[in-house]
Amino acid sequence: MTKVLIHPATYDTVKEAVDLAFSHFPQKLSGKKVLIKPNVLRSATPAEGIVTHPAVLRAVVERVEEEGPAEIIVGDNPGVISYGANEKTFEDTGLMAAAKGYYRNIGNDSVKADFNPAFLPSVSISRIVLEADVIISLPKFKTHGLTVMTGAVKNSYGFLPGAQKAKLHQAAGSPERFHEAVVEVFKLRVPDLFIVDAVLGMEGNGPASPDLREIGKILASDNAVAMDSVMARMMGLDPGRLRFFRKAKEDGLGDYARESIEVIGRLEPIPNFVLPPLGGEAILKNKAMQDAMRQKTQLIPEASEACTGCGTCVDQCPVGALSMGDDDPPHVDAGVCITCFCCQEICPEKAMVLKQP
Ligand code: SF4
Ligand code: SF4
Repeated sequence: MTKVLIHPATYDTVKEAVDLAFSHFPQKLSGKKVLIKPNVLRSATPAEGIVTHPAVLRAVVERVEEEGPAEIIVGDNPGVISYGANEKTFEDTGLMAAAKGYYRNIGNDSVKADFNPAFLPSVSISRIVLEADVIISLPKFKTHGLTVMTGAVKNSYGFLPGAQKAKLHQAAGSPERFHEAVVEVFKLRVPDLFIVDAVLGMEGNGPASPDLREIGKILASDNAVAMDSVMARMMGLDPGRLRFFRKAKEDGLGDYARESIEVIGRLEPIPNFVLPPLGGEAILKNKAMQDAMRQKTQLIPEASEACTGCGTCVDQCPVGALSMGDDDPPHVDAGVCITCFCCQEICPEKAMVLKQP
């Protein structure tokens, strides 16, 4: 039987809840490479409730330091709006300071991985995700216009750098298939521990809704499906109604049935919690969001006059889409490029610009 911890917390007392999470779900961290991945959707203040709160990240980092010595890496690939602004997004959200010097731009070093060809033949994934011995995922308790809720499974979507997130949205085509695509990304590397920031949660049309709820909890589990099942029930939602739960169960990732989960703490629905429409209409009917995603997937990088010809981008491109002659700037093969935008992230001269082909 899988276990899920629900523990009262404020951002001032969060370390106690995080310590309790580690005692219920112990991890062997000494001498290990440990990736800590908050949910960093975009630039926002902690009070907006859009990203994992810095107090939660700091408490987890300190706990891992205590359990170590470990090689700690804190990183994420911000979503549709913040491509190419990894450092700035961490600074703006307060997560850079909370990372205590362990921040790494995981968007500028990625590798190609085979994917389910029903969606895309391959994706580019941040290299550290595949190299880490232990991954600690820090989702935020939020609603989501396309997946209804975003928690432990959906937080792994940030393993993909650049415009691939938007590309996969488009390749999926419908909310049902997008639910399945989210599970396919999750399966690329299942994290080991999930600690959810449910101190300040979000309802309504997330993942960037102004409608916040004081929940006052930290949740934790070592199984994402059980974790999300408990979150769904707190939202007043039957998890079996959502395709990503059924797909995750079919793929052997865990069970969302209430009787298969031991809850440590009090599991109570949040009164009058407002969910987005169950069919994913909140994003599908959002024309500005659709246009932004379409535009991002049509851009490809191009070297500007600031290019010094250092060759770093050519070395780092995960699919070999860049080539460079002796006196020429790098050239992008648009037919090969998977729009991960790693070259833009990594260029030391900020010479890679995104253009319509
Ligand atoms: S990394 Fe930047 S400066 Fe170096 S070759 Fe590529 S575009 Fe030019
Ligand atoms: S050329 Fe395309 S595939 Fe290669 S690093 Fe740049 S964006 Fe990614």
